[in-house]
Amino acid sequence: MTAARAEIVVDLAAIRHNVTTLRQITGTPVMVVVKADGYGHGMVPVARAARQAGAEWLGVATLDEALALRAAGADGRVLCWLTVPGEQYAAAIEADLDVTAYSVAELDEIAAASTATGSAARVQLKVDTGLSRGGAAEHDWPDFLARARAGEEAGHWRITGLWSHFACSDEPEHPANDRQEAAFHRALAAADTAGLRPEVRHLANSAAALLRPSSRLDLVRCGIASYGLDPAPGHTPDLGLVPAMTARARLAMVKPLVAGDSVSYGHSWTAEQPTTVGLVPAGYGEGVPRHASNTASVAVDGLQRPIRGLVCMDQFVVDLGGDRPEAGAEVVLFGPGRDGEPTAQDWAEACGTISYEIVTRIGGRMSRSHVDSETTSDEEAR
Ligand SMILES: *Cc1c(COP(=O)(O)O)cnc(C)c1O
Repeated sequence: MTAARAEIVVDLAAIRHNVTTLRQITGTPVMVVVKADGYGHGMVPVARAARQAGAEWLGVATLDEALALRAAGADGRVLCWLTVPGEQYAAAIEADLDVTAYSVAELDEIAAASTATGSAARVQLKVDTGLSRGGAAEHDWPDFLARARAGEEAGHWRITGLWSHFACSDEPEHPANDRQEAAFHRALAAADTAGLRPEVRHLANSAAALLRPSSRLDLVRCGIASYGLDPAPGHTPDLGLVPAMTARARLAMVKPLVAGDSVSYGHSWTAEQPTTVGLVPAGYGEGVPRHASNTASVAVDGLQRPIRGLVCMDQFVVDLGGDRPEAGAEVVLFGPGRDGEPTAQDWAEACGTISYEIVTRIGGRMSRSHVDSETTSDEEAR
């Protein structure tokens, strides 16, 4: 194996393990959310692994993502939920996707696509229960639900789902959770009164799926936990989820510094005593956050070493504390954490963000491959 300059390795066995665990723990059908290229893990290979582990649904944000899943051979139920006016609803109908509507205007567009294709769409209705992001606001529910029912009676679609999304599910004690769940039940009652009988009612993302059993209903939408990362750090019990992504590189060079030497642009770090440093050939052009400067750590030969100075576009410098590993030595930025390396959660804490952003943004010029630690057969997926 010739190790790459900088690469991402995704273990599909970890994805399968995590999805299996989520299905067991929640006892609920699972939608594995594979938007944003599978949170940076590779949408299509992750979708395949998720299905192998029994995921009943796949979820993505955009219609383009959903169509790309179909083009790659993903069958079964796929929901998307973020559209703008003029979206290709006819293509969605022909690809047998479940689309989401937030408004009467969107329903009108879907009706036109249904007329144009001569086929009925599958539509889920999203209601805003307090996130104040997408979805129909409560004062619009009567018109929205009536239009949904009328279109169903006209044969334009079948309303397959009614759903909403939490604002604060990573803080289980936050009072907004109860309020949102109560609002969702009002929406379900209103839909029932309107004559709608959605097949799936869903509200929970990963954190709620794990921490709020009352929110599981017919389906849980699990993104981050499927990738083995903790949706609610400090609140989630250890469930044995396995981070699927490892980001690693090889040292480009190693050199000594004397006391007083300063490192990288702006000289934001100065050696107080002699040390050695290694050059890691990945920077913000690879999605390594510049916020990691002088704060995150990486593992070199299994030992955690701090980043010194500012992360540059192509590279950063790591303090080797006097050790002199060979150029070419492996540097693990983050991984499952089993061999002493930091995790994406560690990086998130160092950088003042969430693990979602760490794994979704890493990439750039890094190569990405998929392995299967259960079968040991490697699969080149990109
Ligand atoms: C991204 C997303 C999810 C997945 O959230 P996680 O916290 O990653 O589990 C679920 N539902 C919707 C609507 C989303 O946009």
